[in-house]
Amino acid sequence: PYVITEPCIGHKDASCHDVCPVDAIQPAPGGDFDKYDQLYIDPVACIDCGACEPVCPVEAIFFDADVPEEWQSWVAVNKNFFDPA
Ligand code: SF4
Repeated sequence: PYVITEPCIGHKDASCHDVCPVDAIQPAPGGDFDKYDQLYIDPVACIDCGACEPVCPVEAIFFDADVPEEWQSWVAVNKNFFDPA
């Protein structure tokens, strides 16, 4: 799946949310946009279409295998947001 990383924090532009065909991108369960610092991608819902990556104004979105080293932990952050261990 695709992953939203650190540059999203404080931006929450949400262009990605508007283009996702399966509504996999959420600011929070239930859609409480103001409650969290960034948006997240539900790895179960994401169909790897790639539509979200180019529309992000802060280049925060990557395919999970391509996440830069310093943001690798965001793969788990996105997953755990929807499926807390
Ligand atoms: Fe949604 Fe496609 Fe981005 Fe996955 S890759 S979060 S399905 S827009």
